[in-house]
Amino acid sequence: MILPIVAFGSPILRKKCVDISPDYPELDMLLENMKETMHEARGVGLAAPQINKSIRLFLIDTTPFVHDEEETEEEIVKQAFINARILEEVGDQWDFNEGCLSIPDVREDISRKPNITIEYFDENFEKHTDTYDGLTARVIQHEYDHIQGVLFTDKISALRKRMIKGKLMDISKGKVDVSYKMRFPR
Ligand SMILES: [Zn+2]
Repeated sequence: MILPIVAFGSPILRKKCVDISPDYPELDMLLENMKETMHEARGVGLAAPQINKSIRLFLIDTTPFVHDEEETEEEIVKQAFINARILEEVGDQWDFNEGCLSIPDVREDISRKPNITIEYFDENFEKHTDTYDGLTARVIQHEYDHIQGVLFTDKISALRKRMIKGKLMDISKGKVDVSYKMRFPR
């Protein structure tokens, strides 16, 4: 089932999400619906608050990124991250042009560290501690921010924030042309 994606301006995108337990009701169904929603919107990641659930859950599928980059050595990663905690972020900051399904038509260069170590449970509630780098780390960092109540537009300069203010306001009012189903705050 395709779920509507919560738009910028909705309070749920600003809440720090809570852990879930293995008996969370209909978790398999939720993950399936989130996957379907992410693919339909051509996203590389989707976090639970974006489908109106304030829980520490996100998933990524880097297939579109890896296909777009020529001669990349990146491997495709499809993974659900439950109750994730980033333990370490290291290396020299690098810029990458990010976008977000909750903030359509806005893209900004965001600076992040390239290597991360993250502890999480997979969809079978097996615990992992893994390291990621490159585009995969980038996508995880973006989605991880969502479960912390942080959006990529928080990380841009004051000048850029002023420049896109009107556009963000329009999105929060539903004044945006978007090809997938969205839920607007007003
Ligand atoms: Zn996002």
